[in-house]
Amino acid sequence: MIVVVSGPGGVGKGTIVDALVHRDPRLWLSRSWTTRERRPSESDDAYVFTDTERFERRIAEGGFLEWTEFLGNYYGSPTPSPHTDQDVVLEIEVDGAQQVKRLYPEALLLFVVPPSREEQERRLRGRGDPGDKVLARLKKAEIEEPIGRALADHIVVNDDLDATIDEMLEIIAAARPS
Ligand code: 5GP
Repeated sequence: MIVVVSGPGGVGKGTIVDALVHRDPRLWLSRSWTTRERRPSESDDAYVFTDTERFERRIAEGGFLEWTEFLGNYYGSPTPSPHTDQDVVLEIEVDGAQQVKRLYPEALLLFVVPPSREEQERRLRGRGDPGDKVLARLKKAEIEEPIGRALADHIVVNDDLDATIDEMLEIIAAARPS
């Protein structure tokens, strides 16, 4: 099963997917590639941090399940190795989610939304990004949200983190073929 976790920036997707794979050993979190610079607050393995040349070479080799350009950088999910007997979790933005849904209509798409724009802005600013980057991400989020809502199998409001995680684990468990 492929579980796609998408949602606008600042909604808490990263924290959520870390908790999901921690709580459910049948879930395996795909590590994306990006050409974005690492934030000082980020660990080295938050992404495979790479350069444009290597990224484009991998595109040409067909090495991504999906990839996109987001606010001036490439992001992509490497094609998962076939030996994995776990369910693959992809934490991606909506263009990538659309690509996955086209390839795998049976993929489960969970779209996470913030309780309010104010809370989303507060979370985005809390990451330490410069002000112009925060504004660009908020603008992008406004475009992404209606598309993601229309595409989603389930919309989850991330108000209380623990409740959000419980709800998502229940949705995933219910979606597994018995
Ligand atoms: P950030 O720069 O905040 O880490 O990520 C920007 C956006 O790109 C977020 O919405 C994040 O979910 C998304 N993203 C991260 N990895 C991938 C990926 O492999 N593919 C796609 N399509 N989006 C990704």
